[in-house]
Amino acid sequence: MQIFLARTQGFCAGVARAIEIVERALAAYGKPIYVFHEIVHNTSVVNDFKSRGVVFINEIADAPENSRIIFSAHGISPAILAYAKKKNLHTIDATCPLVTKVHLEAEKFSLEDIDVILIGHKGHEEVVGTSGHVKPELLHIVSNAADIDKLDIAPHKKVAFITQTTLSVDDTRELILKLRARFPRLTGPLRDDICYATQNRQDAIKELSKLCDMIIIAGSPNSSNSNRLREKGEQLGVKSIIVDNASQLDVNILNGKTRIGLSSGASVPRHLVDEIIAKIQNTFSDTTVTTFDNPEETIAFPLPRI
Ligand code: SF4
Repeated sequence: MQIFLARTQGFCAGVARAIEIVERALAAYGKPIYVFHEIVHNTSVVNDFKSRGVVFINEIADAPENSRIIFSAHGISPAILAYAKKKNLHTIDATCPLVTKVHLEAEKFSLEDIDVILIGHKGHEEVVGTSGHVKPELLHIVSNAADIDKLDIAPHKKVAFITQTTLSVDDTRELILKLRARFPRLTGPLRDDICYATQNRQDAIKELSKLCDMIIIAGSPNSSNSNRLREKGEQLGVKSIIVDNASQLDVNILNGKTRIGLSSGASVPRHLVDEIIAKIQNTFSDTTVTTFDNPEETIAFPLPRI
């Protein structure tokens, strides 16, 4: 059995920054620290913080007056910030700077009274947060080609698109082409808003798909970028599964396979990948592990004042 580790996987700079912000806030202020939504979409990370006094909430109303609250890496709408200030909460913003960049684009188009088409998954925290930066009457959320067909905007109107950061690069390119065909005056970012980490992890799956007869993704069920990695493997014709941790991996499905690709989403701690490797090695004692150079090692985002 051979395991090939994806070249780029695991924590991106935005996730590493968000986790470090919670760590520093805990060290500086002690528990409880409130976090609006999961700080990042990973069960292990969230459970570890919960055990150390971090309280995750989905409603600002659930944070007591004057308490300290951190906004997750996925970002928030201006209305949430205003409500938190009204409640006298001490706020710390862990929004990934690459999500903030999309917020600024959204605000710019909205201020110019341009209809904004947001390509993303309805209901995902990032999409909900970004939506709040656009005037409601100008906002259109699309997830697929059928949604584009249903758009009720005159073709001659100037419209702009923005995207969620963790989408499938290839699927999004198709959607943008469809938008361009329908709206000749379409404007937007140079290509899309998909971040470097999402792009690199999907590229690494393309590489693995040429080497492997099965791909395992470590990632939580609600992690957008992890799910896109599994889908990419399947699209390329390689059986691909996603597991939250090693205990979810049924090693029986590896019988008859000899070349396993292993990757992890941008919010997955390395120990979860190591535990999956150990479980495979316990069953298949001849397993070897091949690693590749990681081109992202030097990327880091500055921390806010805490
Ligand atoms: S996946 Fe991309 S946008 Fe999301 S936190 Fe990581 S770097 Fe930021």
